[in-house]
Amino acid sequence: MSIINELAPNIEYVSRFDSEVGELMANELFRQRRNIELIASENIASAAVIACMGTILTNKYAEGLPAKRYYGGCEVVDEIENLAISRAKELFGAEFVNVQPHSGAQANLAVYAALLQPGDTILGMSLANGGHLTHGSPANQSGKIYNAVSYDVNPETGRIDFDEVARLAEMHKPKLIVAGASAYPRAIDFKQFADIAHANGALLMVDMAHIAGLVAGGQHMSPVPYADIVTTTTHKTLRGPRGGIIMGKEAFAKKINSAVFPGTQGGPLMHVIAAKAICFKEAMQPEFKAYAEQIVKNSKALAQALLSYGFDLVSGGTDNHLMLADLRPLHITGKELQLRLDDNYITVNKNAIPNDPEKPFVTSGVRIGTPAATTRGMKEEDMKIIAKCIYDTASDFEGTQEQVRRTVMELTKKYPLYE
Ligand SMILES: *Cc1c(COP(=O)(O)O)cnc(C)c1O
Repeated sequence: MSIINELAPNIEYVSRFDSEVGELMANELFRQRRNIELIASENIASAAVIACMGTILTNKYAEGLPAKRYYGGCEVVDEIENLAISRAKELFGAEFVNVQPHSGAQANLAVYAALLQPGDTILGMSLANGGHLTHGSPANQSGKIYNAVSYDVNPETGRIDFDEVARLAEMHKPKLIVAGASAYPRAIDFKQFADIAHANGALLMVDMAHIAGLVAGGQHMSPVPYADIVTTTTHKTLRGPRGGIIMGKEAFAKKINSAVFPGTQGGPLMHVIAAKAICFKEAMQPEFKAYAEQIVKNSKALAQALLSYGFDLVSGGTDNHLMLADLRPLHITGKELQLRLDDNYITVNKNAIPNDPEKPFVTSGVRIGTPAATTRGMKEEDMKIIAKCIYDTASDFEGTQEQVRRTVMELTKKYPLYE
């Protein structure tokens, strides 16, 4: 059963006041309906989540925490924020939660501000091997303010090499180890990370932005029992509003709260916090467990089908919602395949593979994920059709374009969006 067929977004309402923005929103809705969405970090939020974000809750300033605000009139939004906090605690089994971070990046930078001094050493996964910018990339504040050291995946297996992580932890004695990734197709053993961190006097932060929905749905080991701090986005596999949260052991609550506000943010987005509360409730339903299971089934089916067409997958396959295709055997770059797939109404992103010989703007790979297609209702047999479309687009773009576009539009018509 689909939970997304109740609401056509209020585009007509907006159009009456502002036809320019209204028309662009209509164009984007048309694109989302027509295309197969395979960007691993994207999803399709429920009508309730979307409705909640477009409400009068955006009018309220509520700096501070429930019952400790700097503004009057917060008695209702206090209840909303408390509801979001208690649901997140229940969903993930966390001792402490802050639901205010505007995004995943904001959540991570607030944790660093809470736990580290400028110049302290952090150890995270390299961006080039699947980590996130906020895990110590020199392009991000995390790599400018702190002394960032990084681990790579094993070049043979494409997997995290815990001996290597332990060696780097012993050598650099980081104050914080960051686990979690944006482009890693395998399950991550958070207990091993915690053991390495704690044996070396480091704290462990797990950034589960990509897999939060799989954790909530019981399809990935939860980091909450092992990590000192867990951050996540709420809009990826968790399928909520665009935003972030921070969870952790009670001992860190005070420091984290003041690092979010006043440390790095101003007023919280109460309309988004209310939508987070809805998302947590949705994620506690039995249907969400089935959804998370289907994401992984679809991912494995898509990976299997791509392998059968001669694609090379980093690490040989997937345990989660995404795969990384190494396109070198097909003699096409990530940039070129992304462009061609856009033309054929299939959306992916180019992505560096480990030790990529191409520049980051070109790349030798694409990242392909199943959360959004699964929300739409697609199943394993649809994944086989999608794999053929991707193969045809890579191997004979011009010869197959008409057929691929027709196939894609038939498929997206079969699984309507917000209708
Ligand atoms: C997406 C992502 C983030 C950042 O989230 P934003 O909401 O885009 O700031 C942080 N960490 C990881 C691992 C991510 O995948």
